[in-house]
Amino acid sequence: GMITLALSKGRIFDEILPLLAAAGIQVLDDPEKSRKLILATSRDDLRVVLVRATDVPTYVQHGGADLGIVGKDTLIEHCAEWGETSLYQPLDLKIAQCRMSVAVPVGFDYAGKVRQGARLRVATKYVNIAREFFAAKGVHVDLIKLYGSMELAPLTGMADAIVDLVSSGNTLKANQLVEVEQVMPISSRLVVNPAALKLKQQRMRSLIGALAAGVEQEFNPD
Ligand code: ATP
Ligand code: MG
Repeated sequence: GMITLALSKGRIFDEILPLLAAAGIQVLDDPEKSRKLILATSRDDLRVVLVRATDVPTYVQHGGADLGIVGKDTLIEHCAEWGETSLYQPLDLKIAQCRMSVAVPVGFDYAGKVRQGARLRVATKYVNIAREFFAAKGVHVDLIKLYGSMELAPLTGMADAIVDLVSSGNTLKANQLVEVEQVMPISSRLVVNPAALKLKQQRMRSLIGALAAGVEQEFNPD
C-alpha cells in the first residue's frame, strides 16, 4: 500500500523539503503553483496530502494520513483539546524553530501586575497551553481565544497580553509589543498513526529512520 504524509503549506512544507531530499525523496508538485491537495513524490509508494497546520494531528489520528509533520504548539493544543490520543511522536525534526512567549505593549508593567496578583486579560490561539502556563505560576488570567493576528488584541484594548509564537521579534516590534516571558521553545515533530506503523512496519520504519538521519546530518554535521 501507499504511505500518506500530511504536511501544511508554507513554513513547514518549505523546511521539510531538505530533510525529505536527504532521505532521497522529492515532492513532484509545488503547492504554491498548483491547486492539488495530493502531491506525488519521487517514490511511488509515498504521497503528500496538504492540510491546514491544525488539521495535521487530526488526519494522522484518524488514519487520513499515516504520518504528519506538526509544530509542537499545535500538537500540544490538539492533545489538550482531545485528551490522550494514540499519536506516536518519535522524532523532533528541529525545523520551523521559534519560541512561544508572553508579550505586552511597551510600557505595560507585566512583572508589577503579576507581583500584585492582578487579573490579566490574555489573548491567544493557544488557550490550553496558556491556561496551564499561568496556572503553574499562580497568575490569574481571563483567556480570549483568537485564530490569528494576536498582536492586534492589546492594541485595541481588548487584552493586556498575548501568548504567541516569536522568531525574529520583528512583528512584535512593528506593533509596539515586547516579549516579557518565554513559555516554551517550539519546533516541528513527526507524528505517526500507530496502526499504520504496525501495518506498513518496514517502509514506515525506514522512512522514519531516514528522516532521523537527515535531522542528525542537518543539525550535527561533521
Ligand atoms: P494558518 O496560517 O493556515 O492559519 P498556521 O499559522 O498554524 O496556520 P504556519 O504559520 O505555517 O501555519 O505555522 C505552522 C507552524 O510553524 C506553527 O505551528 C509553528 O510550529 C511554526 N511557526 C509558526 N510561526 C513561526 C515562526 N515565526 N518561526 C518559525 N516557526 C514558526
Ligand atoms: Mg500562520
